[in-house]
Amino acid sequence: MSEPLPLTGPDLAVGIPVDQVPEDGVLRGHAHGEPILLSRVDGAFHAVGAACTHYGAPLDEGRRVGDTIRCPWHHACFDLRTGEAVRAPALRALDRHVVEVVEGNVRVVGPAPTAPRPSGRAGPGPVVVIGAGAAGASAVEAMRATGFDGPITLVGREAGLPVDRPNLSKDYLAGAAPEAWLPLRDEAFYRDNDIALRSGVEAVELDLSQRRVLLSDGSALPFGACLLATGADPVRLPLPGAEGAFLLRTVADSKAIVAAAAGARRAVVVGASFIGLEVAASLRARGLDVHVVAPEPVPLARILGPALGAAIRATHERNGVVFHLGCKPEAIEGGSVRLSDGTQLSADLVILGVGVRPATGLAERAGLSVDNGVLVDAFLQTSAPGVWAAGDIARWPDPHTGERQRIEHWVLAQRQGQVAARNLLGGAERFDAIPFFWSAHFDTTVNVVGFLSAWDRIDIDGDPASGDAALAYRRGDRTLAVATLGRDRTCLDAEVLLEHDDHAGLARLVPVGA
Ligand code: FAD
Repeated sequence: MSEPLPLTGPDLAVGIPVDQVPEDGVLRGHAHGEPILLSRVDGAFHAVGAACTHYGAPLDEGRRVGDTIRCPWHHACFDLRTGEAVRAPALRALDRHVVEVVEGNVRVVGPAPTAPRPSGRAGPGPVVVIGAGAAGASAVEAMRATGFDGPITLVGREAGLPVDRPNLSKDYLAGAAPEAWLPLRDEAFYRDNDIALRSGVEAVELDLSQRRVLLSDGSALPFGACLLATGADPVRLPLPGAEGAFLLRTVADSKAIVAAAAGARRAVVVGASFIGLEVAASLRARGLDVHVVAPEPVPLARILGPALGAAIRATHERNGVVFHLGCKPEAIEGGSVRLSDGTQLSADLVILGVGVRPATGLAERAGLSVDNGVLVDAFLQTSAPGVWAAGDIARWPDPHTGERQRIEHWVLAQRQGQVAARNLLGGAERFDAIPFFWSAHFDTTVNVVGFLSAWDRIDIDGDPASGDAALAYRRGDRTLAVATLGRDRTCLDAEVLLEHDDHAGLARLVPVGA
């Protein structure tokens, strides 16, 4: 979330000559006190809000692709004609404004009326979505957005409303975001959209023969179609004393860490994972001494390569984080962590950030095909007809790499939820999105598009240590992924090129041999 955008550019309520509006870009201005994006699509003029509805980024700094605009920060995408959020992470549409052209001048007249929610679409009967996280919460919205009127129940084990999970290790944990920012939607949204939110309840059995879901409160929900979106569970290391350490997945977990940090001087984070390092940064922001213990010599090097890993480490060290690399924790005992090299680190709180396992238990017990994730087809349907899966648990056949993939990213989970939702209502949309994720470390944000699993060399344009770089992860003549620091446009360009499997274009974007 950021401050409201300043009112820059021309006053579009007064108007500008039509030839000042680019054919293939967007023009930022303002009208009636609102920042506005003016665009020309197929000869007609359109005006929508200029701030991304996800975190408020200036969309004019993003990239126009056809009749859409993509956000520079987290790659949300909006239809320039309707303002509709066509790709997560944005869930809300941009405000639309009425435009008129008089004597070669285009001006914004005022806000356009909100289009009524579509309705009248039949479906497979009652829909039950298990898991109220990124995939599940996006899926139920997407179903209503297509006009489906049938019953929808969203079952979530965590109490409360679905939340912006990435914030739990970032601004919320650092004390920079209030709790009110966490919910993706308020209660009224679920009520107004007739979505039954059953939170604080666990689905304990998926009964395929009777086509119903049994819940931990003893009730049963019949379904015509079911979406499994149970996410992943953090791993608790099999260490003496590890049962007293904190994990981080839920609001309750984040709150527990905040409470423990309040009276603490020193925290030890076990694991230099993305989440472990984000926790380290957030606890430094709260003024704690923070030590990170991990077996690898360079944090994140296995995933992002040594140069970017070293840059992220340096960022943390500049901000006072102390690393204990190349050694493992052996025990957590009486206010300290004993390391494999004999060091004893005192710790008022210990947080484990050593990865997650997909929460596939329900699917396995129901007899679905599971192999390092729930196996789904190109449309995200599981081995059982009418049962779909999305998010951290889903392992789908990816057309770009030609391999099955299972990826733990917020935006990908949301997009899978949306595609599965449309497909379980009768659509036939192949899931072919390019994964995108971001991770924030003090003032450095890393953005990544693509598949990071099988690279064998990295070309680097710029200098990761300076916070201005693009890294291409390559194998043979293919670019599998691109990571950027301080180059949001490059990351958007890479996303488009990856979508088209344009490896020659990617070789130009981040030169081979750089
Ligand atoms: P989840 O969002 O985990 O949702 C699954 C839900 O299902 C959970 O609420 C769970 O309680 C519930 N559930 C499980 N079993 C049952 C059951 N039997 N019955 C009912 N409910 C059940 N990704 C990024 O790309 N960028 C980031 O910066 C980033 N930061 C992160 C920070 C943190 C602290 C965490 C934990 C994750 C972060 N991620 C990030 C990863 C991202 O949040 C996940 O990839 C994403 O949430 C996966 O979505 P999902 O819907 O599959 O699972």
